Amino acid sequence: MAHRERYVLLPDRLFDGRGEFLDKPAVIVEGKRVADVTTRGSVEVGERATIVELKGVTLMPGLVDAHVHFSGLRTYNPAEAVVVPQELRTLRAAQDAQKALLSGFTTLRDCGGTIALALKRAVAEGTIQGPRILAAGRPICQTGGHCDAHYLPLEDVVRRGHVLLCDGPWECRKAARIALREGADLIKVMTSGGVGSEKDDPRHPQMSVEEVRSVTEEAHRVGKRVASHAQGAEGVKIAVLGGVDSIEHGYFLDEESIGLMLERGVFYVPTLCLVEVYKKTLESPPPGIPEWRLRKQEECVEHMPQSFRAAYRAGVKIATGTDYYGPPLRAFGDHADEPITMVKYGMNPVDALVASTKNAAECLGLSDIGTVEKGKIADLVGVLGDPATDIESLRRVAFVMKEGTIVLKRS
Ligand SMILES: [Zn+2]
Repeated sequence: MAHRERYVLLPDRLFDGRGEFLDKPAVIVEGKRVADVTTRGSVEVGERATIVELKGVTLMPGLVDAHVHFSGLRTYNPAEAVVVPQELRTLRAAQDAQKALLSGFTTLRDCGGTIALALKRAVAEGTIQGPRILAAGRPICQTGGHCDAHYLPLEDVVRRGHVLLCDGPWECRKAARIALREGADLIKVMTSGGVGSEKDDPRHPQMSVEEVRSVTEEAHRVGKRVASHAQGAEGVKIAVLGGVDSIEHGYFLDEESIGLMLERGVFYVPTLCLVEVYKKTLESPPPGIPEWRLRKQEECVEHMPQSFRAAYRAGVKIATGTDYYGPPLRAFGDHADEPITMVKYGMNPVDALVASTKNAAECLGLSDIGTVEKGKIADLVGVLGDPATDIESLRRVAFVMKEGTIVLKRS
């Protein structure tokens, strides 16, 4: 039998992902998995084990960002997506993947874009260092919807092939089949307008329940999930009634949309850290950012924390996602912004940790990660300090292990 690496990790404290803490723990890792979780006093180190002292560290499940876009973009100028070649953007995205991993985020879900389809394979085969990536591939969107690049002629959008434009249940069903054919791990649909799309409104609904249902049927048949970009309450309702598994953004929630999410057990990925990003860009607009985008941001900032608090209070399952894609204010590596912002706007820090680990893993449909338990995959992150009392300690990453391999250790 091949020799399997055996580590005995000795942090000060363990957060298990479910909300419990253990003082003076010992976490045993064998091969790719957690072999045992015990206390320092009762650990049997055994031969050939490597002891890893993690002084001052709280060890946690590897963190999860349920909403990113590996775009390789570096500015807010919409023209960049057209004039910077895909090859260059892909190389930039490889750098982004490494940054994410070293910041303790061992799993990322890309919610739309073709680069991630290649990137996840490059990581899985060991060509580049990065987190586990789930990729939606090309998003499904109605003509003129959020992902239809409104500034280009329609035929150019179709030719460039970054989005699956479709109208009517059968076209949407075919689009879902195409996305799956291209290797999508999940399907992304657009059921409302958005901030980054010129000619629509975040509060207006897009797609119909029937159209969404045709997509969710195709995805669920093959055990895959559907995430919906839905900012206005009407778009949220269409998505939930159409059977999606998670609502992304949900900036303008009302009682009915919250009730529907609760009733159907749909996850809410509020991408709340964008409030802070929007505020910063409104204070000093970065070069290239269009005027219409600033105006839309302004319209959202008030409602985002309100919707988040209402959903949290109601008990909706919340998972962390940043919607980061590259530019300085939305950089890979800064994914801790989301749990930190959630705490700033009223979430209990332990709930924010659960949202970043167990809940986010469940949102992605991954039962092997998200908690530190015997038999789970050894994705682990160690931070200096105690994130239960100081959520900012998520930025002080001292240790990262992915699938039993140490990728970062600061002494
Ligand atoms: Zn997004």
